[in-house]
Amino acid sequence: MEEIRLRFAPSPTGPLHIGGARSALFNFLLARKLGGKLILRIEDTDLERSSRESENNILDSLQWLGINWDEGPDVGGAYGPYRQMERLDLYRQYTQQLLDKGMAYYCYCTEEELEQQRQEALAQGGNPMYNGKCRDLTPEEKQKCEAEGRKPVVRFRVPENKEIVINDLVRGQVVFKSEEIGDFVIVKSDGIPTYNYAVVIDDTLMKISHVVRAEEHLSNTPRQILLYEALGFKVPQFAHISLILGKDRSKMSKRHGATSVVQYKEEGYLPEAVVNFLALLGWSPEGEKEILSLEEIIQQFSLDRVAKNPAVFDLEKLLWINGMYIRESSVERLVELAVPYLIKEGYLSENPSPEEREWAKLVMSAFQERLSKIKDVTEQIKTLVGEEVHFENEEAAAVLEQETCPLVLRTFKDKLAALDEVTPETVKTMLKSIMKELKLKGQFVYMPIRVALSGQQHGPDLFLIIGILGKDLALRRIERALKKVSC
Ligand code: GLU
Repeated sequence: MEEIRLRFAPSPTGPLHIGGARSALFNFLLARKLGGKLILRIEDTDLERSSRESENNILDSLQWLGINWDEGPDVGGAYGPYRQMERLDLYRQYTQQLLDKGMAYYCYCTEEELEQQRQEALAQGGNPMYNGKCRDLTPEEKQKCEAEGRKPVVRFRVPENKEIVINDLVRGQVVFKSEEIGDFVIVKSDGIPTYNYAVVIDDTLMKISHVVRAEEHLSNTPRQILLYEALGFKVPQFAHISLILGKDRSKMSKRHGATSVVQYKEEGYLPEAVVNFLALLGWSPEGEKEILSLEEIIQQFSLDRVAKNPAVFDLEKLLWINGMYIRESSVERLVELAVPYLIKEGYLSENPSPEEREWAKLVMSAFQERLSKIKDVTEQIKTLVGEEVHFENEEAAAVLEQETCPLVLRTFKDKLAALDEVTPETVKTMLKSIMKELKLKGQFVYMPIRVALSGQQHGPDLFLIIGILGKDLALRRIERALKKVSC
């Protein structure tokens, strides 16, 4: 049986994009589901735009998401090298074969000549494709071009009147006609292969069985199939996954939210949440349940349930999913994730002491239920630092005008001052004793204390609020409130 081998083949021309991550994920899911391998290949032939920095960003982002590969530029493998610029010799051999068989030819047309051809074709209402001028140059004509110092490209001779049929695993049968395709460049004048050419040789030599990639490559596929056939290679299975659109149905762009994976990491999204969200961009699970672990997704994944229509990127949904994962996380993990943000905003020192870490733990326990991304903790915490209490609204401020408020706050202040340890139990017992002593119902006790301490009517447990403020600051905040209500 043929081995199952999939690949993710990013061009390192920028950070890993959400769309790229989704392609990588679908390849990964299918490879794992079918018990196959995932290969990472770096398509770095665009010398001007490619960089190692982008490559590293792509690798780091994939690793962060938990998408791992079996072969690639970092881990090696039997079918390397895994960067296209390290494979130029391989391409050259095949180019020679195609040239020898007359399936490819040198083209000496200059950019200006090609532009003129395009304009002429357009003026005549035709398809602006290469007109085949250099298809059958005589040796003398070639020599003349060479003598003029022209550097040729290599073009593929597209066979005439041929139907190219793609049996796409997502889109079904798609048919192209070779007349719609002009002889295209396979090797540029600097000797570097074009995408459509290198991809065919690499996918073949790397024994790729399934090519899962974005729909925007569908129009490249007939060119690639022609090359597979010309080189006598077996054509892999193709699956073109739909575009990702913004909520307004235009192509996903910066307007719809961050476009690179690293930005999501920096904003405090959890990788499992991003993976879960990306999986749902085009694929749908069988059941109702949408919060799925990577293992569950692998188990359920199949191309049959990948939609043909575009996927819509809904940031609200990502926030919701992320919130769900935050609630399921251990507080210890949340602390690890939150510490860098808390340091950056000056809530913790550069090297947090054990006490500061304890404080961060209280903070994360307090806000675990409320956060939809980790970074937001720095906003939430604002109400619980500093001397000044900001009332969230007039209604909150009005709580302190209740008749019984001064008495409640005074009693609370004395009891808190006398409290040895702030724990959920000691705080609860204290509040109960206030209710009993003053003969007041719960909310007449809790609410003024809560508002005096945080300026808000809702929020984390009072014990956590007191813990985060620390006893001294809590007492000072109560005093401040007392001053306000007593005058
Ligand atoms: N380097 C191409 C890209 O990043 C790969 C396309 C493919 O998967 O064939 O779009």
